[in-house]
Amino acid sequence: MSSFKRGGMFIISSPSGAGKTTLVKKISKNKNFFVSISHTTRSPRPNEKNGKDYYFISKNHFKKLIKKGQFLEYAKVFDNYYGSSKKIVIKKLKEKKNVLFDIDWQGTRQIRNKKLNFKLLTIFILPPSKKELIKRLTKRENKNIKTVKKRMKGFKKDLLKWKEYNYVIINDDLKKCYKKILNVMKNKAKPVYDKNFIKKHIKKLID
Ligand code: ADP
Ligand code: 5GP
Repeated sequence: MSSFKRGGMFIISSPSGAGKTTLVKKISKNKNFFVSISHTTRSPRPNEKNGKDYYFISKNHFKKLIKKGQFLEYAKVFDNYYGSSKKIVIKKLKEKKNVLFDIDWQGTRQIRNKKLNFKLLTIFILPPSKKELIKRLTKRENKNIKTVKKRMKGFKKDLLKWKEYNYVIINDDLKKCYKKILNVMKNKAKPVYDKNFIKKHIKKLID
C-alpha cells in the first residue's frame, strides 16, 4: 500500500527562502494531503491570507494558546512565534490523512521526540547556491534588505541541521525537486540520497 493511503506526517524544512512553502503548496494539490496551517505572530506578506497561509495572531494570543496546550510544537523563529495546532493535526491523522508541515528544525525536533504513533518522514531542502538564495529572498521580500539580512543571519545555523532529516534535496529546478519529493513520499522504503554529494554542496554553501 502506498503511504498516500495511510495517515502520516511529512515535514519539510529548509533555510529561509530555499522554497519549502512553494513546494508544500504544490504537494498539497495531491489528493489526501492536508497542510497544517500554522499560527504565527509575524505580520502577513502582501499576498498572504489569514486562515490560508497562516493564522496571524498577536503575541498575547499565542502565549494563551501555549498555556492551553494547544500546540503540537511551537518555536521562536526570527523574533516571532510559530506553532502547529495539535487538535487539527491529530484529527486529520486519525482520519488517515497525510499531514504536511512547513516548519523549522526546532519544531521538527519536538515532533520527532514526541514519538507519535504515526509515520514520520522529514525532508530538508537546500538552495542551489547562496547567491540564488539571496536572489529568491530579495524577490520574495520585495527588496526589503533588512529582512533579507535577518533571514540570512540564521542561514548557517539552519543549514547545519540537514543531518537530522531523513532525506535532503536541492531545489534548483522546481518541477524536478517537486517530483523527487513526491517519489520519496510515495515510497515505503527508507529514502536514500548521496550523502557525500550533499556534504560537498553544504560546504560550498557555507564557504
Ligand atoms: P521558504 O518557504 O523556504 O522560505 P519560498 O517557498 O517562500 O521559501 O520561496 C522563496 C522564493 O523563491 C519565492 O519567491 C519562490 O517563488 C521562489 N522559488 C522557490 N523555488 C524556486 C525555484 N526552484 N526556482 C526559482 N525560484 C524559486
Ligand atoms: P516564514 O516567516 O518565512 O513564513 O517562516 C519562517 C520559518 O518558520 C520557516 O522556517 C518556517 O518553516 C517556520 N515555521 C512556519 N510555521 C511553523 C510552525 O508552526 N512551527 C515551527 N516550529 N516553525 C514554523
